[in-house]
Amino acid sequence: MADELIVKFWGVRGSYPTPGEATVKFGGNTACVEVRAGEHVLIFDAGTGIIPLGRDLARRARSTDQPLEVALFFSHLHHDHTQGFPFFLPAFLPNARLHIFGPGATPETLERVLESNQSPTTFPVSLRDMAAWKDIRSVRETEVIVWDADGVRLAESGRGLSDEAVVICIHRSYAHPGGVYVYRIQWRGKSVVYATDTEGYVGVDRRLAQFARDADVLIHDAQYSEEHYRGVLAGFPSTQGYGHSTVNMACELAAAAEADRLVLFHHEPAYDDEQISEMEFIARMLFPESIAARESMEIKVKTVPSLQTTLGVGKPVKTTNAKV
Ligand SMILES: [Zn+2]
Ligand SMILES: [Zn+2]
Repeated sequence: MADELIVKFWGVRGSYPTPGEATVKFGGNTACVEVRAGEHVLIFDAGTGIIPLGRDLARRARSTDQPLEVALFFSHLHHDHTQGFPFFLPAFLPNARLHIFGPGATPETLERVLESNQSPTTFPVSLRDMAAWKDIRSVRETEVIVWDADGVRLAESGRGLSDEAVVICIHRSYAHPGGVYVYRIQWRGKSVVYATDTEGYVGVDRRLAQFARDADVLIHDAQYSEEHYRGVLAGFPSTQGYGHSTVNMACELAAAAEADRLVLFHHEPAYDDEQISEMEFIARMLFPESIAARESMEIKVKTVPSLQTTLGVGKPVKTTNAKV
């Protein structure tokens, strides 16, 4: 429905894809989340989950006879967040429009990295030969991306905009090797925070908690069990400093941010469905509104079209009708 902010999970696995019968319940594709705000389609990361999403977007465009236009945001450029892009069907469609954003030292960094991922020695089709119209740019933490009736553009802030505008803010986290962007998507006073590949701090990551404040949906890295992280799980070394969180860290952050609900994300590839179910069980004891992300899961947050909320002006009115 056009009045709902819809979050759909296409890839929930961290590090590398994990097909097989032990991962059927939660899924084996790497990171990719679709957020639909009315007619606008936003995608977060291009792990292998973006491949089935791309096919679905092409199908939807055909069935509605609407031009295909999406905004794609990279949290960072590690393989598990980019490896699906060379197989993203809309990038091959001449009539499709792709707005692509991500981190990088200069505005061109993101494009250079995507180009090198598809160099002639590693992939048969170059970025340039993908037929879609593409605007690819690295953005700074201080920039805000806006998508409204005037199209997709960069702005200095989200203030003064209609609540019909989709506003995406960036938080640069240092809690992952090389850094990572956390995104906050706001539409009609509702918000989703996408915080993958981030490690918790003692006493909670205060900057991130502030950025994620009052999120209706908080998607947070929860790759490791406590035992694994601490190095007491048989056969596994400690993963401290790898840039990923435990379930406890994700729950602490959700509580500190007073998020409405928490989605555990970026599942450890060595874990089977049973282990992730156990982590979900633990999470619900610590933060009751928790769920482990699984492929195809949709979360719908009802919005109020008449609510005039602009970023930084007042606190969004909360409703409790979000459904999983
Ligand atoms: Zn990752
Ligand atoms: Zn990473």
